[in-house]
Amino acid sequence: MSSTVQGLPPNYRTVLDVVEEAGPGGHLTAQEIWVRARALQPRIGFATVHRGLIRLHELGAVMKIDVSGEASAVYEPAASPHAHFRCTGCGAISDLEYAVPAQTVRRLAERHGVAIEREAVTFTGRCANCG
Ligand SMILES: [Zn+2]
Ligand SMILES: [Zn+2]
Repeated sequence: MSSTVQGLPPNYRTVLDVVEEAGPGGHLTAQEIWVRARALQPRIGFATVHRGLIRLHELGAVMKIDVSGEASAVYEPAASPHAHFRCTGCGAISDLEYAVPAQTVRRLAERHGVAIEREAVTFTGRCANCG
C-alpha cells in the first residue's frame, strides 16, 4: 500500500478496498461502490462514499473517469494511464491501451502556458457486440 493513503479514515479505507477489489478496468459508479461498501460496513452512507472518492482521487489512489453522455463518473484503482472506450449502443466502458505521449503533453503545456496534471481520454463508438 502506498504511503499517501496511510492515515485514511476507516470508511475511506473501505471505499478504497472496494475499488481495489474491483481491479483496474472495474469502472464502478459511486452508487455501485456504495452498494459494495455497505456489504463490508453496513452503516456507511452515500455521502461518505462520495467524499471518500473525492479524497482518494486527490491522493492519486483512485482514477476517476468522467464519461461524456453519462450522468455519473466511474472509478477504478490508479493504474498506468490508459484511455477509455464507451459504446453508444449498450453503454459499456472498456479500457484501451493508449496514453498521450509525455512529449506531447509537455509541448501542449508549454504552448498554452498551463500546468497539466491529469489526462482523461475517452473514445466513443460501437463495441464488438453492438457492431
Ligand atoms: Zn479504465
Ligand atoms: Zn455495445
